[in-house]
Amino acid sequence: MQNRLEIYNSITRSKEPFKPLHPPFVGLYVCGPTVYSDAHLGHARPAIVFDLLFRYLTHLEFKVRYIRNITDVGHLENDADEGEDKIEKKARLEHLEPMEVVQKYLNNYLRNMEQLNVLHPSIEPRASGHIFEQQKLVKSILEKGYAYEVNGSVYFDVLKYNEKYHYGKLSGRVLEELQGSTRSLEGQDEKRNPFDFALWKKATPEHLMKWPSPWSEGFPGWHLECSAMSIKYLGETFDIHGGGMDLQFPHHECEIAQSTAGLGKETVKYWMHNNMITINGQKMARSLGNFITLDQLFSGEHALLQQSYSPMTIRFFLLQAHYRSTVDFSNEALQAAEKGYRKLMKGIETLSKLKPSPASTIDISSLKNKCYEALNDDLNSPVLLSTLFDVIRNINSAYDGNEKLNAADIDSLKNLFSIFVNDILGLKDETSGKGSEKLTGDLMKIIINLRQDAKSRKEWALSDHIREELKKAGITLKDLKDGAEWEVE
Ligand code: ZN
Repeated sequence: MQNRLEIYNSITRSKEPFKPLHPPFVGLYVCGPTVYSDAHLGHARPAIVFDLLFRYLTHLEFKVRYIRNITDVGHLENDADEGEDKIEKKARLEHLEPMEVVQKYLNNYLRNMEQLNVLHPSIEPRASGHIFEQQKLVKSILEKGYAYEVNGSVYFDVLKYNEKYHYGKLSGRVLEELQGSTRSLEGQDEKRNPFDFALWKKATPEHLMKWPSPWSEGFPGWHLECSAMSIKYLGETFDIHGGGMDLQFPHHECEIAQSTAGLGKETVKYWMHNNMITINGQKMARSLGNFITLDQLFSGEHALLQQSYSPMTIRFFLLQAHYRSTVDFSNEALQAAEKGYRKLMKGIETLSKLKPSPASTIDISSLKNKCYEALNDDLNSPVLLSTLFDVIRNINSAYDGNEKLNAADIDSLKNLFSIFVNDILGLKDETSGKGSEKLTGDLMKIIINLRQDAKSRKEWALSDHIREELKKAGITLKDLKDGAEWEVE
């Protein structure tokens, strides 16, 4: 077992050797999506980063209980406890039940995650299924004196908490500065301080998702679900809590405050945050028109996209960056990633065609150690990938006859790829074989263009012949003004 993993802890702001609280068990909690729109690039990154961690810890023979929650209630339009519930708003716009909205976008998210070869977590709990646990935590915080009730709503008392504990320890925010910068929004006069946050909100009569409670018929505050569900499934102290950098404040800071206030101790040992994604150097936002969903990325149907990008290209692209670095999406960068991914897959194919030599000239164990060293160094996936490309260079060199590999070493290399490329990086070969949607799409594009050429030369017999042959193969062509659409019957 290569158990030397060091991870960067957001609280101590340093790399620490990873020591589970209860080996061989590891508790991992990652904040999942609020399911009210199609999954986009911003969802892909934390899913893939923590999938890498989950896969690597599992490879190191830890027994990981990985929880990724689904927010289906309580996340209001702005993160300061005001505005409409995001899911209820969508339900109104689409004339659906709130839970239909949740199911629709959850299905989309999970399908996209499967396409990206992201493993299912051990448990995917929903906020609406844990109202009892959330109310229990609110009661405990109230009993300890760190919350107050106003008109049926319950708010966390940040100033009171900060007298004994440290509010801001994760994000480095200072309370005095927050006091000056937090806007006092209309309707927030119930709060003693603008930075106090809702644990329970009284529902207005038109609000749909509401539950009875000792305080009012209402719904939980957004931050509460992660405290309540992590404690329920991972215990009062657990190993790793992850999520996107944008969740560090206020979401995770509030989680720490709630759990500490309720239990009298901190629950999380290591905090890990993945950095954000930009598009052509700009923040991704619906208002900027650069908001790209994963389905659009896979189909190429977005004004900013020059082509479609396969799920494995996206996965490879994200793994090329360290999880703590920002990543900038552009067509050029994605096309380079597509090339890199294909080169890696081709190298693995070349290995399968190698004829063994009697002797070997390549030091495989040192390459394997380098792979482990890269991952042990705070999950350094870019260094791991560059080491794997060193291996590919050696294989190509052996294929050209400049290096030699014996049968045992060829098997070791096959094993090395199977561990690091397939099992840990989660990259699979989609460049060949049946069921490759990307390949079919590319081939159909070529066939349709050839038929267009024939038509422009008025070679009608040939163009009809192509259509008939495709029909026999179960593919129907529909002519358009410029080109054609195709459909599998
Ligand atoms: Zn959360």
